[in-house]
Amino acid sequence: KHEKIYTYVGSILIVINPFKFLPIYNPKYVKMYDNHQLGKLEPHIYAVADVAYHAMLQRRKNQCIVISGESGSGKTQSTNFLIHHLTALSQKGFASGVEQIILGAGPVLEAFGNAKTAHNNNSSRFGKFIQVNYQETGTVLGAVKESHMTRMTQIEGQKREIANYHVFYYLLAGASEEERLAFHLKQPEEYHYLNQQDCFTVEGEDLRHDFERLQLAMEMVGFLPKTRRQIFSLLSAILHLGNICYKKKTYRDDSIDICNPEVLPIVSELLEVKEEMLFEALVTRKTVTVGEKLVLPYKLAEAVTVRNSMAKSLYSALFDWIVFRINHALLNSKDLEQNIKTLSIGVLDIFGFEDYENNSFEQFCINFANERLQHYFNQHIFKLEQEEYRTEDISWHNIDYIDNSCCINLISKKPTGLLHLLDEESNFPQATNQTLLDKFKHQHEDNSYIEFPAVMEPAFIIKHYAGKVKYGVKDFREKNTDHMRPDIVALLRSSKNAFISGMIGLDPVAVFRWAVLRAFFRAMVAFREAGKRHIQRKTGRDTASGLSDTMERCKEEKYSKAANTDKLYHRLHEDVVHLYTWGLPWMGERNQNLYASRSLAQLPLIFLMRNKNFKPKPVLPKHLLEVNSLKHLTRLTLQDRITKSLLHLHKKKKPPSISAQFQASLSKLMETLDQAEPYFVKCIRSNAEKLPLRFNDALVLRQLRYTGMLETVRIRQSGYSCKYSFQDFVSHFHVLLPRNIIPSKFNIQDFFRKVNLNSDNYQVGKTMVFLKEQERQHLQDLLHQEV
Ligand code: ADP
Ligand code: MG
Repeated sequence: KHEKIYTYVGSILIVINPFKFLPIYNPKYVKMYDNHQLGKLEPHIYAVADVAYHAMLQRRKNQCIVISGESGSGKTQSTNFLIHHLTALSQKGFASGVEQIILGAGPVLEAFGNAKTAHNNNSSRFGKFIQVNYQETGTVLGAVKESHMTRMTQIEGQKREIANYHVFYYLLAGASEEERLAFHLKQPEEYHYLNQQDCFTVEGEDLRHDFERLQLAMEMVGFLPKTRRQIFSLLSAILHLGNICYKKKTYRDDSIDICNPEVLPIVSELLEVKEEMLFEALVTRKTVTVGEKLVLPYKLAEAVTVRNSMAKSLYSALFDWIVFRINHALLNSKDLEQNIKTLSIGVLDIFGFEDYENNSFEQFCINFANERLQHYFNQHIFKLEQEEYRTEDISWHNIDYIDNSCCINLISKKPTGLLHLLDEESNFPQATNQTLLDKFKHQHEDNSYIEFPAVMEPAFIIKHYAGKVKYGVKDFREKNTDHMRPDIVALLRSSKNAFISGMIGLDPVAVFRWAVLRAFFRAMVAFREAGKRHIQRKTGRDTASGLSDTMERCKEEKYSKAANTDKLYHRLHEDVVHLYTWGLPWMGERNQNLYASRSLAQLPLIFLMRNKNFKPKPVLPKHLLEVNSLKHLTRLTLQDRITKSLLHLHKKKKPPSISAQFQASLSKLMETLDQAEPYFVKCIRSNAEKLPLRFNDALVLRQLRYTGMLETVRIRQSGYSCKYSFQDFVSHFHVLLPRNIIPSKFNIQDFFRKVNLNSDNYQVGKTMVFLKEQERQHLQDLLHQEV
């Protein structure tokens, strides 16, 4: 009623989605919340960003902000506000242009990665972890966006409750007359991929506006007009591809034909591939057995799957490419020039908990990710906290919370977790989704977290922390092994359009090479700097013209402009040889900078990769380490892919299943989170109808219950939110303490008694001091008076 949507439980921020824009996010607010302690001002999302920012600078530790809540509760919106504030805080320093890119990246990723669902008009179908990097001075250096976890909407859109990605609708509504002609655009209802959903009407005017905004955002992240056209043309190709339909040639045999051949030339024009090749790829499978090429016609159902698979592959390659490009732009900042130690704040926004009328593999993965996140929350809020109280031996009454480990084990524990059983059945040619379900039953009959419907129905029910969800097992196996088919890859690689063939060429090995290239470039810059310093010291002059020339040669633009990886390689090789001969004398110097020697350590790798028969095995451990050490450039996801692809190349194994990839990327994410100090933002959906300022008591209460909010309030009430080691305590409050005081339990207790601290609100353990926020505040105030 009062339009106050924020409150705190301790330092946890609770947001209730108002479904109405409130005037509390303007620059005045950004300023107001700058450098205040949490709780001094009205609760606000900016306050959380601010506290994380200053904690990072003060304690020199990475921070992360974890946002959770069900679909439509306001996570993505909150993320945007956080990022906005995190970049605004830094602009007090000198802006570097990266902020622009960070802010533009949001709308671009949303347009391509979000879709409209029954719960949310703008539902994220991918998880993202945005890490804003700062210099130690607090200026934004760059950022990384990682699209974690597989995207979770099927492009073919057979789900009636989920529409397709926004960008399709934007394009169809907003394209100019010239673009409509060039891309052969039609109306949304004329496309098979867009007309499967229940009516999702949005005003055309709004969509046109969205398209403009998208174009602007794409410009902000550095997509040139030409690139934008290529992207739109590809989107159109995907839509037309979906319209291709098949018929049986004759009653007697299984061979098939395309019933609307007039679509083929359009798709082939847009993708710039040969029409015959396209046709072949759509109706026949090519296999090679013992050196013999076989061409087999697809059956009707297979052909439909192939068509959809091609569309999905194209879209997901496009999305990967966009994320890759944005990351590239974000890294292309000053930190490349300088070897500066960075700190970071990560913001995690994933797809929220989902429960529709029909739930499938996607919902299963999404909800599993949410289980893991809830577990992380429990760990931090309840488990670790209470364990600490126990080891410190302070008096404490245990607070129970609902531990969801059992559900997580049921889904993912080796070897009988549901996801592992799924992998097993996916690898077994005779298996079906029914045998999969039988396996689930057989293994977990007695587990109380899984149930099976009483009536014969191919489904199972999981008791999630957020409630029971029924999953239909249909398509589980197929969706789990949905890989890009080799003949489709071959087709797309044959495209005359460098954008398309290059995009498909974004295979892990190429990414690996690219990462090494960037690491190498960075090392070269460091090398130049070191050389310069060296000459300066020796001669008193401040330029080393020879080295500068070399660096001119190695301009990064030159590499980015290379049409393909081979060309890029060629140029790199030339430059490396040049640098090598030029730089070698410098390397002889004992006092050479460490970075310079590092750059040379990478040379053999570059030479190796130049070799067409590049076999990664002999150099793997050492050089991956080398790449690892340059972490700023070769981000975790890249390393993931690299490692995987190298191992894969090596063992010639099947690519990992979707569920295995999903689990691996989740685990990686959790690792990253574990290395930072967390803040939590809990988003609450206020009503199911998405109506402004409408508060549905039952809906809100249910969310507060299952997220463990009541227990959280209790632990925050009786627990101690501030803790210091004796040493830290003494150094922080030394002004108030006797000179040269020994940091001991006795001395600190003595001090507390002297300043009349309420003894209910603090405890001194074996090695740590525990305070309630109020008492800490009190001490802080004393400190201020003293200073
Ligand atoms: P989620 O990411 O949790 O699925 P979103 O962040 O996309 O949910 O929010 C869904 C919708 O709710 C948004 O499109 C927006 O209209 C509205 N919304 C969310 N948070 C706010 C907010 N703080 N103020 C106003 N509207 C909001
Ligand atoms: Mg979202």
